[in-house]
Amino acid sequence: MTRKRITILGATGSIGQSTLKVLATRPDYQVFALTANENVELLLAQCQQFKPEFAVLGTEALAQDLTTKIQSLGLSTQVLSGTAALAQVARDPSVTHVMAAIVGGAGLAPSFAAAESGKIILLANKEALVMAGAIFMDAVARSNATLLPVDSEHNAIFQCLGQSSHVGKGVRRILLTGSGGPFLDTPLADIHRVTPDDACRHPNWDMGRKISVDSATMMNKGLELIEACWLFDVPPEKIEFVIHPQSIVHSMVEFVDGSVVAQLGQPDMRTPIAHVLAFPERCEAGVAALDFSKLTALEFRAPELSRFPALSLARTVASGPKSLAITFNAANEVAVEAFLAERLSFLNISEVIKAAVDVAATPELNSLGDVLTCDQEARALTRRILKAYD
Ligand code: NDP
Repeated sequence: MTRKRITILGATGSIGQSTLKVLATRPDYQVFALTANENVELLLAQCQQFKPEFAVLGTEALAQDLTTKIQSLGLSTQVLSGTAALAQVARDPSVTHVMAAIVGGAGLAPSFAAAESGKIILLANKEALVMAGAIFMDAVARSNATLLPVDSEHNAIFQCLGQSSHVGKGVRRILLTGSGGPFLDTPLADIHRVTPDDACRHPNWDMGRKISVDSATMMNKGLELIEACWLFDVPPEKIEFVIHPQSIVHSMVEFVDGSVVAQLGQPDMRTPIAHVLAFPERCEAGVAALDFSKLTALEFRAPELSRFPALSLARTVASGPKSLAITFNAANEVAVEAFLAERLSFLNISEVIKAAVDVAATPELNSLGDVLTCDQEARALTRRILKAYD
């Protein structure tokens, strides 16, 4: 058996850990590299279990610390640091698969390295496509890379389309479902005082803190709209948001003959992760079967746009100049960071993002460098806007 060799970008995160849980049962995979930003202890434990050739951390000092610990355990993993090292382990010629699971814009450059070098990319880092959709898809096409969606909704759409990224004439619309997060039914008057812990307490999913806040504002659905446009080459008008509080239906595709195909499953990321790891086969994910005798109600409704302003803003952004999506994403990251640090209120997150999108410059984007420059400018702009909230 020729073993597949995988690099996991963001191995210590929620997606990274779920990926390793599935991989622990897959002898056909060999872990080539594991990366983290600063979580030395967890990365060390992962190196002990999976014995990768490389581990990467954010700084040289953290890498030194891990090296000492790795040597004392008699392991041979080589420890690197910094953004160039992330790209290096993503594009190494011996690597077949890259799980792109770094959170935020920091994941773009290493995911792009995987796209340029023809890998099978298991894409969780939606921000990469939101920021650099055209350039990213172009790199995938030129290098003959394969892009498989990990995000549960996009993975569901991919499955509903018949394991295809092609939306043909037969598709009437894509129904992008979302739970509505922890504040779906909270009286509007009470939302202004919610805390970061309240926002991160998702009713169905256990995720990293940034995406948990994105779910509470429904910015996550806005980012997913833009991600879906790129992945499936569809205009935003063909995608509809549907609130589905139980998170059992992960998205649906409606065809012109009236058929609607849905993908169902437990709200557990090991399912889409196992799907892309085994693709085009299937493998065990360790996820409990759905018990249909207990699924007494699956509800669907339209989102309340006044409660979730991110949804309308995402539509404006998706049909505007490409650089607007960079500002949309960057402003969200800066605002969510401020909210998590208790420097901004929950309701002000969407307000700050809109203020940034309203005034941002819209430069042409011809390269990854252009995207990264626009991203830096959008972050600086948002920080200036945030000063008004001090
Ligand atoms: P987490 O916050 O749980 O994990 C993020 C990972 O990225 C960690 O390994 C972290 O390292 C690393 N990281 C953070 N910042 C940097 C940086 N500047 N440079 C290098 N590495 C960095 O995130 P999630 O796993 O929740 O999400 C990962 C991605 O997957 C996101 O894009 C998210 O939108 C997407 N996604 C997540 C889902 C989920 O269920 N969690 C569902 C669908 C999509 P360290 O631990 O050292 O900080």
